[in-house]
Amino acid sequence: MSTVLSPQEAEEFANQVRSFLESNTSSGKGRDLSAAQEFQGRLAEAGFAGIPFPKEYGGAGLTLEHERIFRQVAQGFPMMTGELVISHGMCLPVLNEFGTDEQKRKFMPDNISAKTVWCQMFSEPGAGSDVASLQTKAERDGDEWILNGQKVWTTLAHVSDYGVIIARTDPDQPKHAGISMFIIDLKTPGVEIRPINQIDGGNHFNEVFFTDVRIPADNLLGEHNNGWRQATAMLMYERVAIGSLNAGKITQPMYDVLAKWATRNGSISDPVVRDELMQIYCMESTKSMVAMRNREEMKAGKAPGPGGSLGKLYGSIIAKRFREIAQNIAGPATAAWEGEGSDEEALAVNMIGSLSSGIAGGTDEIQRNIIGDRVLGLPRDISVDTGVAFKELKVGTQRS
Ligand SMILES: Cc1cc2nc3c(=O)[nH]c(=O)nc-3n(C[C@H](O)[C@H](O)[C@H](O)COP(=O)(O)OP(=O)(O)OC[C@H]3O[C@@H](n4cnc5c(N)ncnc54)[C@H](O)[C@@H]3O)c2cc1C
Repeated sequence: MSTVLSPQEAEEFANQVRSFLESNTSSGKGRDLSAAQEFQGRLAEAGFAGIPFPKEYGGAGLTLEHERIFRQVAQGFPMMTGELVISHGMCLPVLNEFGTDEQKRKFMPDNISAKTVWCQMFSEPGAGSDVASLQTKAERDGDEWILNGQKVWTTLAHVSDYGVIIARTDPDQPKHAGISMFIIDLKTPGVEIRPINQIDGGNHFNEVFFTDVRIPADNLLGEHNNGWRQATAMLMYERVAIGSLNAGKITQPMYDVLAKWATRNGSISDPVVRDELMQIYCMESTKSMVAMRNREEMKAGKAPGPGGSLGKLYGSIIAKRFREIAQNIAGPATAAWEGEGSDEEALAVNMIGSLSSGIAGGTDEIQRNIIGDRVLGLPRDISVDTGVAFKELKVGTQRS
């Protein structure tokens, strides 16, 4: 749908969204999956879920302009769907871009309304930054594929219904060529999910093992052996999703946390602290503007490009600065605290958690490589495996 909204129509839609959010949001539920699912179900009933996706696929059948208005209005309310970022920011656009009509009708409506939760299954013990080195393999057997191997760091796999997984389907081809993408039902026999306990007390990640898991041939997502191109598209959606959180307007969430602390302990009058606070204020404002540009490009119909890496990398640089400034302002409270649910605990968990922003969705070094190659046009890294059959490469357990 590509109609342009009149100012009155835009205002009317913004009012409808505002009145929905006023009666359906509450703070403190942003990291609770079941609350996110319940909220998303209400959004779907109200016609505000999957805004730009067609109605036959469970969307609202509206425009990207409606979506932009929704995001803008939602900025003023607690974020209720943080736990659905992978389902909606990554798996949904990939289903929409590469799924067949049948797959979209079958899987998108429940994904959009969050009746099902989805995860991304790319990384393996020997394949993270260089994910094309993956060794999980899928072999065709009649109307099915048989999957064997292991994934790791799979966020939310333990509470997900489906995964978007990439696996090697032709080891005779060079490593980027013989990969395919599948939809996997995580309840299938042979899937074993083992949670990983985190230093911040959370339990978001998993190791996932596959032993002779049978995937229906109909669950091949996109073309056979075209999985690398699709995986790259999904990673770009991921970087935009991560780098463009709060993309509706200019916000300074980390500045807000730090300014509150500095006000509370009196360091707000220290000129060095004030200078640091202004630095993070400016950095976050700049990041918001980059995120808004990315969103506008997507709104104009452009697939997310390497520019998504800019927002993603800058988010990680801001997180690092946040940790340094928090230590200056709050001192020992960032490492040791008393009382569960205290502000000190929240800050310390925030600090530890923020370290992941330089790794998740591609490390800082990888973002810098992408920006160097594809934004600045610098010479690419030397590649030693171009044209070599994957089975000949010394990667993962093939090293021996
Ligand atoms: C919070 C979080 C959530 C995640 N969720 C998921 C998920 O849901 N699904 C999923 O599939 N994965 C997930 N991951 C995994 C993530 O994608 C990988 O951790 C990441 O891609 C890095 O891979 P690696 O850990 O194997 O590190 P490695 O690739 O082994 O990297 C180790 C170090 O070497 C550097 N390095 C590697 N190659 C280069 C190079 N060419 N040039 C310069 N430096 C290089 C890296 O920057 C890094 O510092 C998640 C990770 C985190 C932290």
